[in-house]
Amino acid sequence: MREDNMDRSTRNSRGQFISHQSEHGRFLQQINFTADCWFWTGAPDTNGYGRFWLNGESIQAHRYSYELFVGPIESGKLILHTRECGNRNCVNPHHLYMGTHIDNMRDMRMWGNVAVGERQWRSKLSNADILNIRRIYKNGGYKYKDIGEMFSISASHASRIIRGEEWKHLNL
Ligand SMILES: [Zn+2]
Repeated sequence: MREDNMDRSTRNSRGQFISHQSEHGRFLQQINFTADCWFWTGAPDTNGYGRFWLNGESIQAHRYSYELFVGPIESGKLILHTRECGNRNCVNPHHLYMGTHIDNMRDMRMWGNVAVGERQWRSKLSNADILNIRRIYKNGGYKYKDIGEMFSISASHASRIIRGEEWKHLNL
């Protein structure tokens, strides 16, 4: 949902990037530039990503940076940090790349955010999986289908977990 909002605020009806000079200036003022990473100085979200307020919406700062310096984000694609960077609050466009959910899963494993473990060998989800599924959904940007793909379950199964119809005993 947040991604849709960002699309509306930064692109015209043909999908082209719209320049908002004052917004760019405001964005750049919130960066602590170093020779390596460009650290976002605003408060991070619960996942450690910088957030930038734009038209009353809080969007991920690194996504905004990518669109500003690199170009439009393709539909369904994610903006990920390179292995060399790994700082989620970094908005240096040289440290960002456009990737897929598969890439994201690899990164999350790398950073230990998702207890993937031996998922492919297990037929059932673990408690940690359930909590991660709900957390990923709550943080926004992913549909049931996307999350289902991450955890090798169907979209409807993911939705039942997220809506609490399954695994009710695991309260958040
Ligand atoms: Zn960086």
